[in-house]
Amino acid sequence: MTTVIVERVTKKFIQDDGDAGAVAVAVDDVSLKIYPGETLALLGPSGCGKTTLLRLIAGLETPDSGTVLYDNIPLDEIPHEERGVGMVFQEDALMPHWVSRLNIDFFLRLRKREGELPERLLRISEITGIDIDHLLDRFPDQLSGGERQRVSIARALARDLEILLCDEPFASLDTSYRSKARLELKRLLSEFSVTTIYVTHDQLEAMALADRIAVMNEGKIEQIGTYRQLYETPQGIVVATFIGVPTINLFQGQAIGGKWHGENFGGYPIRHDLPSNSPITMGIRSEHIHLAIDGVPGVVDEVTKFFSERYQLVDVHLGGEEWSLQLPLDVTVHHGDTIYSAIDPAGLLYFDPATGVRIG
Ligand code: ADP
Ligand code: MG
Repeated sequence: MTTVIVERVTKKFIQDDGDAGAVAVAVDDVSLKIYPGETLALLGPSGCGKTTLLRLIAGLETPDSGTVLYDNIPLDEIPHEERGVGMVFQEDALMPHWVSRLNIDFFLRLRKREGELPERLLRISEITGIDIDHLLDRFPDQLSGGERQRVSIARALARDLEILLCDEPFASLDTSYRSKARLELKRLLSEFSVTTIYVTHDQLEAMALADRIAVMNEGKIEQIGTYRQLYETPQGIVVATFIGVPTINLFQGQAIGGKWHGENFGGYPIRHDLPSNSPITMGIRSEHIHLAIDGVPGVVDEVTKFFSERYQLVDVHLGGEEWSLQLPLDVTVHHGDTIYSAIDPAGLLYFDPATGVRIG
């Protein structure tokens, strides 16, 4: 098992589509440590630099500055065959051009030993319940998307790996197949001790698979932590809005004498040391808003019932503000009703709107 260290790594690309000579900073001064045997999810919106960071960690890209180390040894000092890296990609995972020869070798090698698959592969078959032997008899174009991704994961793990790198391997599968494949992978990762980095834009996938999640935005790591840490104590507005379903409610307001006041809501405690009238964004998750007779009136725009989670999400507005709250399913609400919302102060989060940093 290997410790992966990313030390102040930056990678820029010259954009050939936009202005002449325009530069995109895909990965911007990123530092990161992934512990032996840990599964770390790299989570962020499309275009934030996840794939580039993964490719830098794999040694498929060279950083403009900074270093990637495996067990404290700079990657460029480790011969390729000693790196012990396996990769699984989003599409066409069985035949990315740079490993196609390896890929074919692998299948030829397996075919020669009919009836006696390597022991690791048998274990993979057992753990996942997939008849990999059967799948290996087919060519990649005879497999469904889901089968292809499973075979490519099996192929990666069939070698004695140190590091497994996955780039949205299940993104193109449909939802039910995706959760099944995710479960199989989780079982495999707990069986085989391998340091894993898993790229995804899907927070539920990150939550299901990873020990820790690194939230990435515009080439930078915003915060690293467990899902719960990111959810309850986001360090900034980017993480607060990216993590959590439904999305957190945000209100613009000001701090005045130890209280926060907004357009409709207000009077909640806030730090006393803030300059008077300083603009502050308040964040509150929908489960921390409840109905109260003396609450803030809001007109219901939409009611969405989540039966398995046993709540209904109610979107309301008043003046220029919109918010959503979670109500028990047995409360009757309709479009156009006026309901009265009150905030549970335990759920309050405050942010500096200029920097996005959380201040309370
Ligand atoms: P993600 O995987 O999070 O969607 P990427 O790492 O693919 O993000 O891309 C990050 C940024 O770098 C994007 O702006 C993308 O256009 C740019 N980029 C990535 N690869 C290249 C490349 N080979 N040439 C030019 N720009 C690139
Ligand atoms: Mg990508």
